[in-house]
Amino acid sequence: MKNPKEENDLMEKIVSLCKRRGFVFPGSEIYGGFAGTYDWGHLGVALKRNVIDAWTKAMQDHRNMTFLDSSIFTSGKVWEASGHVSGFSDPLVICNVCKEKSRADHLLENAGIRADEKLSELEINKIFDNNRNKIKCPKCGNKDFGQIRASNLLATSNLGMLDSKEDQVYLRGETAQGIFINYKNVLDTGFVSIPFGIAQIGKAFRNEISPRQFLFRKREFEQMEMQYFSHPNEAMDNYEAWKKERMEYYKKLGINSKRLRFKPHENLVFYAKAACDIEYEFSFGWNELEGIHYRGDYDLTQHQKFSGVDMRFYDEETKEKYIPHIVETSVGVDRTVLMVLCDAYCEDKLGESERVVLKFLPKLAPVICAVSPLLKNKPELVEYANTKVYAPLKAEFGRVAWDDNGNIGKRYRRQDEIGTPFCIVVDFDTLEDDTVTIRDRDTGEQERVKTDNLKNYIKEKIS
Ligand code: ATP
Repeated sequence: MKNPKEENDLMEKIVSLCKRRGFVFPGSEIYGGFAGTYDWGHLGVALKRNVIDAWTKAMQDHRNMTFLDSSIFTSGKVWEASGHVSGFSDPLVICNVCKEKSRADHLLENAGIRADEKLSELEINKIFDNNRNKIKCPKCGNKDFGQIRASNLLATSNLGMLDSKEDQVYLRGETAQGIFINYKNVLDTGFVSIPFGIAQIGKAFRNEISPRQFLFRKREFEQMEMQYFSHPNEAMDNYEAWKKERMEYYKKLGINSKRLRFKPHENLVFYAKAACDIEYEFSFGWNELEGIHYRGDYDLTQHQKFSGVDMRFYDEETKEKYIPHIVETSVGVDRTVLMVLCDAYCEDKLGESERVVLKFLPKLAPVICAVSPLLKNKPELVEYANTKVYAPLKAEFGRVAWDDNGNIGKRYRRQDEIGTPFCIVVDFDTLEDDTVTIRDRDTGEQERVKTDNLKNYIKEKIS
């Protein structure tokens, strides 16, 4: 069991490693930072892409899955219909002493008071008021707070708002609404019929009151969402099937299964038929990674009501007309990346030396292998490493690094720290027998492999 100091230390170490090695930089840093935003560096872009590719592949494996890329800007009506304009809010409370803004449910949680985030505003207010003497401001430690008020999470924009009569425009608060409003378009293309899924990856924006825990809660983030449209009689089975599939998916991604669990929602929103989260045990505790919701016909019914468009599906065979029921799986790219980083981070001892290593599954690693000539001042080694090893591997895999700086031990440590699974070294024997040394990141073991076999060797490890 880690103590709170160790937990903070671990997160600080990850944040610092991410900046130092070019995974993630704080947003607008030269202007003092901009809360809730981060910029992705070279390695972060690669890690994020691998996470996205893994999710895309898992969705593509379904024959009846389609993909969509809908706009970030949408008509304001979309968010009125969805209920986000009136009801998408967090309980905001301001410290009367230092003016720090916090989420009331998070303060309750910090004080060890159970406050399920799905509780109604009224219920949170009541619990907060009954416990005011136990709740401290995280910034100044005082216990003097104002009243709780609802703070809307939708980020607004003045795009196209030439006069006040025009509708308010929003940046999307989730990608799902783009899927609901295109469901008829997708169906009309004739490629799919019920049951089928629409999967989408894209940016979402939320006015989070207190963005925190690095990539966990950002104001601009990316979501990977899938909505599965079923006959009402089949939707519950599909919900169970998706739950199972999504948990298996994380295990196959190499995530420690002891740190994954389902958490059923205790307080279902009125339209939901069933809902749970997949939680991961971050260093700051168990928290939602992905939401899996059986949403009934709520979303399509709402859009039917507001747009006047008939959202029913007509089954030619049974002559039945109905609004499909929806099962949703929804996860953040950023949150997944944070989980992958936390899960991979390790400090261990290899031989005599201590090291920091990111034990990514090879297919997620931003750099799949690093190529080194044993000595950088020996032109024959450099030439061989460059033309016979680096160039063909780079053409095949893209994410291949050239590393000839410092001694071999230092190169290994540097690659361990960014999670490179294989370091390939070209030495004098290579010039004789066309074999190279491949050193394994996790065990430190080395083996000789024929230069011609390198591509296949690595392909096998990634698959
Ligand atoms: P939370 O309770 O953590 O605020 P939520 O229940 O509001 O999350 P959903 O609206 O269900 O989250 O969003 C689906 C997924 O999108 C979440 O499981 C999470 O992975 C991701 N996500 C949501 N908000 C953020 C955020 N502010 N920053 C990063 N990822 C987020």
